[in-house]
Amino acid sequence: MLQTESLEQLLAENNILRSHNKVLIQSLEDERRRYAELQSQIMVNPHTGVPALQAFLNTLVTLIEGDQVRNRAGDGGKALSFFLVVVKLSNQYDLVARTLKESASEWILYQTAMRLGESLAPEEKLFHTSDDEFVLIWQSSSITQVQKRLALLHQSLDKHHSLSGVRLHIGSHLGLAHYPFHGRNHQGLRHAANLALSLAIKSDQPWVVYEEQFRQDVVDKMELQNGILKALEAQSMQRNTSQFHLVYQPQVTLLKDRDGRMRISDINAEVLLRWRHPTKGLISPAHFIPLAEETGLIQPLGTWIIHQTSVQLAAWKGSPLEKAVVSINVSPKQFANDQLVYSIDRLTRKEPAIAQRIKLEVTESSLLENTETCLKYMNYLRGLGIQFAVDDFGKDYSSLSYLRKLPVNTIKIDKSFIDHVGTSHHDQVIVRAISNLARDLKLKVVVEGVETNKQLRFLVNEGCSTIQGYFFSKPVSADQFSSFYQKAMNKRVNLNQV
Ligand code: C2E
Ligand code: CA
Ligand code: CA
Repeated sequence: MLQTESLEQLLAENNILRSHNKVLIQSLEDERRRYAELQSQIMVNPHTGVPALQAFLNTLVTLIEGDQVRNRAGDGGKALSFFLVVVKLSNQYDLVARTLKESASEWILYQTAMRLGESLAPEEKLFHTSDDEFVLIWQSSSITQVQKRLALLHQSLDKHHSLSGVRLHIGSHLGLAHYPFHGRNHQGLRHAANLALSLAIKSDQPWVVYEEQFRQDVVDKMELQNGILKALEAQSMQRNTSQFHLVYQPQVTLLKDRDGRMRISDINAEVLLRWRHPTKGLISPAHFIPLAEETGLIQPLGTWIIHQTSVQLAAWKGSPLEKAVVSINVSPKQFANDQLVYSIDRLTRKEPAIAQRIKLEVTESSLLENTETCLKYMNYLRGLGIQFAVDDFGKDYSSLSYLRKLPVNTIKIDKSFIDHVGTSHHDQVIVRAISNLARDLKLKVVVEGVETNKQLRFLVNEGCSTIQGYFFSKPVSADQFSSFYQKAMNKRVNLNQV
């Protein structure tokens, strides 16, 4: 009895085990299939059917190692030479991928793969290495030959894509590296091609071929960025090794007296940053400000400039310069968060009167890039009493609608219009138009880069009476600005004489 029972129990347990086993085997099978799918996706891109990243790496390594083995063996055969071409679709593709149906981006990828494939000779290869990136291996041995092929390829990639009757233009950038000259192993070669690609994207060129100098440029740039950080750290620790300092360039306003003679009636200043590098000497802000922007160091640097300017304004209290307004340059990146607003807010809480003496210079491009955030911050600062000038007016854009929307009260006519204003009819017309526009919109005008009497005469005749430029003074130290102010204020200026 007992035996039969245990036999039945044994059989039942056996059945349970068997069904468990089946489930286990099934899930093992599923797992194996998923792995195989993943493996094939690593080898082949599922959207385009083009060999993918792993296949590319395998091919590249095999190609280079094979070449090196042959070289070591000294077989005297033809040396291997090929170009690695990294192709990246523009941001427009990203937009399509994020906003339209998946089939839209798949269609673009498929068409791109077709166009790239058409550029290949029989021995050459195409890979789809990531969503918006492809790589070609071209066997060409000379750069001249490659340039011709690039022009043709660019033409083909530049054609629009038709999507349900809609024509979409998806641009692309290409970065090239030449084996063995730009990298002797696969990492070095890929790095070189990617560096060329990043330059193509940055400078918006259809393609860039790697040059040795690029690597050095990256090293130099990183060194400078590190230098900015170190200089700022030293500054904040109040060490006596101040590498940054501020200079002041006078903005001189001329007024016609009743007797018809011109007189200097007001003097303000633009604050400009200077960096004296311990080994490289004086570095132009036009060079290092963009580097500070890239790393985000522009935020602490901007805060330091505001703090330092406020210290100077406080020092001029009770002196003839008490009422001078200083214009501080603000980089577009400083509107990316509220750090700038915060530092000015803190400053004006301590000393409310200081707000009337600060004007912020913002470039047109930054106003147009982040109009909404800019508007919010600018309105807040305007509420504190801070004024705003549009810097480099007319240089990049000609959209004027923002002038009505933003709390701007000054426009600065860009130096590029002033350089030839004495002789170029074209520039004269532009300057006249800007100054008329400003008058109609009740905006103040500052003209920058005025160097000669001829330029000054034309500008004053056009009613542009606030002048900044070497004609009156280069940017100078605070003390020199103070003596300029005291000497020049109310002085007569004879336009015909100089
Ligand atoms: P910007 O704001 O357009 O400044 C005017 C530039 O023109 C200054 O160059 C000034 O020295 C120069 N300049 C003024 N008058 C004349 C002239 O008559 N002839 C010539 N040839 N040049 C003249 P600087 O100081 O080298 O500054 C270059 C740029 O660097 C500035 O252009 C500004 O965009 C940026 N920058 C300078 N200081 C700062 C700063 O404190 N913060 C930020 N964010 N940017 C700054
Ligand atoms: Ca400026
Ligand atoms: Ca300017």
